[in-house]
Amino acid sequence: MSELETLAAELDAADELAWLRTRFVLDDAVYLDGNSLGALPVSVPGRVADVVYREWGELRIRSWEESGWWTAPERIGDRIAPLVGAAAGQIVVGDSTSVNVFKALVGAVRLADEAGDSRRDEILVDATTFPTDGYIAESAARMTGRTLRPVTPAEVPDALSSRTAAVLLNHVDYRTGRLHDLPGLTEAVHRAGAYAVWDLCHSAGALPVGLDEHGVDLAVGCTYKYLNGGPGSPAYLYVRHDLQPRFDSPLPGWNSHARPFGMHPAYEPVAGAGRGRVGTPDILSMLALEAALDVWHGGRDRSGGGEGEGVTIESVRAKSLALTDFFLRCVSAYVPEGRVESLTPATHAERGSQVALRCDAAADVMKRLIHQGVIGDFRHPDVLRFGFTPLYVSFADVERAGRVLGETLGETLGVLG
Ligand SMILES: *Cc1c(COP(=O)(O)O)cnc(C)c1O
Repeated sequence: MSELETLAAELDAADELAWLRTRFVLDDAVYLDGNSLGALPVSVPGRVADVVYREWGELRIRSWEESGWWTAPERIGDRIAPLVGAAAGQIVVGDSTSVNVFKALVGAVRLADEAGDSRRDEILVDATTFPTDGYIAESAARMTGRTLRPVTPAEVPDALSSRTAAVLLNHVDYRTGRLHDLPGLTEAVHRAGAYAVWDLCHSAGALPVGLDEHGVDLAVGCTYKYLNGGPGSPAYLYVRHDLQPRFDSPLPGWNSHARPFGMHPAYEPVAGAGRGRVGTPDILSMLALEAALDVWHGGRDRSGGGEGEGVTIESVRAKSLALTDFFLRCVSAYVPEGRVESLTPATHAERGSQVALRCDAAADVMKRLIHQGVIGDFRHPDVLRFGFTPLYVSFADVERAGRVLGETLGETLGVLG
């Protein structure tokens, strides 16, 4: 055993979260793509079969009430809330992240309008954002008669002014893995009298967010990355408690009506987080997500057994940083000098739960890694992206990934120069 293999074994032996790996369906591959699609929790297939065969197949229409289908968006929102530092009653689950970005950003501009500030004619958007947020922001700006200004998160404090209505930011950069300063930027946005909308896709489930503590106005995020909800599982929308009475959704569907079954011609929004609902929820995906969240809440799977203790986001963050530190160490030990360059900040305060390496011929290198059982992904034009989900990634996985990357880049040296 090499020194790093021995160290990995020691780190795994001391890892308090190591037992959680058995709560996921995994194979011999090293799965470092949980920041794109989280692995399948073992609690999900049985629950989905129950929803399909019993709740739908036998109870049919009765399940809207008897199986708690109607209230699932708020109930599951309350289960996500502690993971992002929110008190209950502020998060609703449903629709995609893209749709929730639209609701949140237009909602934020309308809040600024309502404050009577007609001169707030700008929306700031993270220039490095995941593209969908930028596309939606452009449309939201056009619809609300605002000018969209793309700026990097570092430029936001200087770009803010009495003209700013709302700011849309990503908590962690999907490409580089850089963690942005949510408390500081939110405070700067508020000092300018504007509203802050945060996209938590790459932070929820991987690190503490502190939505309530830092006074975030609105937030959105997906559930199929670090929350392991499954392909296309519904996203969520956070609207801070005191803003809810004024939150004016641009998609006021019947599910957010105060009396949805009154079938009134006039819209009257429900009080609370449910105001962010639109139409009939995608129950199969939503209840798969709910089962996936069992991993966090006492963890007792439905086949019985298990330690039954809760998993704190602080312990997940500590392991995440240990995993990415160890990966960077393995990369520098195994990879030939100069073949890769880390785009992910070295400082913990600026690092999410992934490592992005700039690399020549990255697309081809990633294909070779996947062929050898190390699953990461390629991001255009030259980035190897490795996501570390602390719930199921081990230090032995990390050592193997670094070693295989080193071997692959050693071999390709001759071929690719
Ligand atoms: C993954 C991701 C999305 C995905 O949006 P969907 O509507 O779920 O496809 C949006 N924003 C960010 C920052 C992401 O990382």
